[in-house]
Amino acid sequence: MTLNATNGRVNGNHQRRIDYGAVERAAADLLRALGADVDADALEETPRRVADAYAELLTPQAFRATTFPNDDGYDELIVARSIPFHSLCMHHLLPFHGIAHIGYLPGDRIIGLSKLGRVVEYFSRDLQIQERLTTQVAGWLQRELEPKGVGVVLEAEHLCMSLRGVQKLGAKTVTSALRGAVRDDGRTRQEFLALTTRTSHDQ
Ligand SMILES: [Zn+2]
Repeated sequence: MTLNATNGRVNGNHQRRIDYGAVERAAADLLRALGADVDADALEETPRRVADAYAELLTPQAFRATTFPNDDGYDELIVARSIPFHSLCMHHLLPFHGIAHIGYLPGDRIIGLSKLGRVVEYFSRDLQIQERLTTQVAGWLQRELEPKGVGVVLEAEHLCMSLRGVQKLGAKTVTSALRGAVRDDGRTRQEFLALTTRTSHDQ
C-alpha cells in the first residue's frame, strides 16, 4: 500500500487491471464445467453479470484522507462503531460481511469519522482474508494519522463457513489489531474493548 502525506489521495499498489472478456469467458467455462447449459436463455447474460460483479467487488474507490489539526488537544479515544463492510474471501471467492469497530487515540491530527468507513471499504475491495483486512486498516491509520494508539475490531460472517463446511449460520469470526497505547496502556485498551464488546452484545 503506497500512501502519501496527510490529505493525500490513497493509492493502492494492488490496483488491478480487470480483463472483462477473459472473466466472462472464464465464467462461461465455470458454468459449463458445473454442468450448466450456458446456451440457455436464462444464462445468456450471466457471464457478463459475473464479470461486472467481481469487477465492482475488487475495485477500490480512491478517496481523500482528509485530516485536521487536533487544535483542542482532544486526548480521549475516538471510536466509530458498527461500520458495515463486505469483502471477498480469497480462498473461496465468496463474500464475508460484518461490522468494523475502529478507535484511535489522537495525536496531532484527527480524521473525519466518515473516512474511517471509507478506509475499511477501500481495503475490503480486494481478495482478502479477515486478518489481513484488519491489520491493513490499523496500519493505514497508524501511518496516516500517527495517533497515540489505534484499535480495529472486525466481526464477520463468512459465507464459505456458513453455507458449506461446518455450516454454522450466523457464526462470527472476530479479529482485532491493537497498536500503540490501545495495545500497551491497560486503561485505554480496556476502554476500547469495552466499547466494542458492548456493541457486539447489543446486536
Ligand atoms: Zn473462504
